[in-house]
Amino acid sequence: QAKTAGKGRYAVFNTLLHTQAVNRLKLETDLRGAIERQQLQVYYQPIIELATGQLTGFESLLRWQHPELGFVSPAEFIPIAEETGFILPIGTWVLEQACQQLHLWNLQFPDRRPLTMNVNLSVKQFAQPDLIEQIDRILEKTQIEGQCLKLEITESVIMDNSKVANLIFQQLKARQIRLCIDDFGTGYSSLSYLYRFPVHTLKIDRSFLTNLESKASSQYREIIQAVIDLGHNLGMDIVAEGIETIEQHKLLQQFSCEYGQGYFYSLPMPVEAITELLGSRLNLNPVLVSGD
Ligand code: C2E
Ligand code: MG
Ligand code: MG
Ligand code: MG
Repeated sequence: QAKTAGKGRYAVFNTLLHTQAVNRLKLETDLRGAIERQQLQVYYQPIIELATGQLTGFESLLRWQHPELGFVSPAEFIPIAEETGFILPIGTWVLEQACQQLHLWNLQFPDRRPLTMNVNLSVKQFAQPDLIEQIDRILEKTQIEGQCLKLEITESVIMDNSKVANLIFQQLKARQIRLCIDDFGTGYSSLSYLYRFPVHTLKIDRSFLTNLESKASSQYREIIQAVIDLGHNLGMDIVAEGIETIEQHKLLQQFSCEYGQGYFYSLPMPVEAITELLGSRLNLNPVLVSGD
């Protein structure tokens, strides 16, 4: 009971809560002006075709360089942005940056096959009534084709918006914009949405890969294989997230997973570093094509 825990502990607990609340309030206040103060930056992480080692596109990942705190993790500030509604202007900004940058890269590197851009959409963004108008405006402004753009949403985004989801998906489809289910396998929803909605790609959550080297690895292999087969049977592409080792890369390749993303190939990087990468070589990891 709280009383028997003693005053001291209660005070420590209270202080901790207080510190957390103050930190959060600070982040919330500072996030408000982050775009204008140019503290936000979009990083890009390559997505690789496993069979060839070729870079096929990117996922855009937001970074916040806080003047005092340094880099604040999206895991920390995206939920705040979501709760406060700042995610709407921030999300629009990310989408525009990412599309603009994709257009530039496709112009700069015409010899490559057209690259694709994945952009994350959170619940509030998905539910905003003018989502499609915004997308249309950005596609027109940045001159990229809808088919170059992929939107990543989690299962819960669909579940929380099941009424409007169908209409939005139809509108996206009409623009050839493709839909990815992010962090697949971490939600608790029924799988029926997979055939009810036009999902193009499943991104297998990296927690499955992390466990590949653990004791229970054989079960995890079974699960990954089953998820890949499920997706394929439904006509979907599969991206494995969080590939960090050559063993993971090879295993996913064996399982006929089409695409991979992870530190094994590349960290998320700022524009200049990616431009350099695109200019330097066609395959990210020479090991992958030399067939070791
Ligand atoms: P996510 O969409 O699942 O993005 C993948 C996360 O995995 C990224 O974390 C990426 O840096 C990380 N990652 C990639 N490869 C590896 C790997 O090999 N090992 C490990 N340990 N991690 C890897 P990040 O950038 O910290 O982003 C975290 C989450 O924040 C994202 O998860 C996404 O849900 C959210 N987020 C990031 N940017 C945006 C954005 O622009 N809009 C929205 N709505 N959410 C975003
Ligand atoms: Mg994502
Ligand atoms: Mg993910
Ligand atoms: Mg995630």
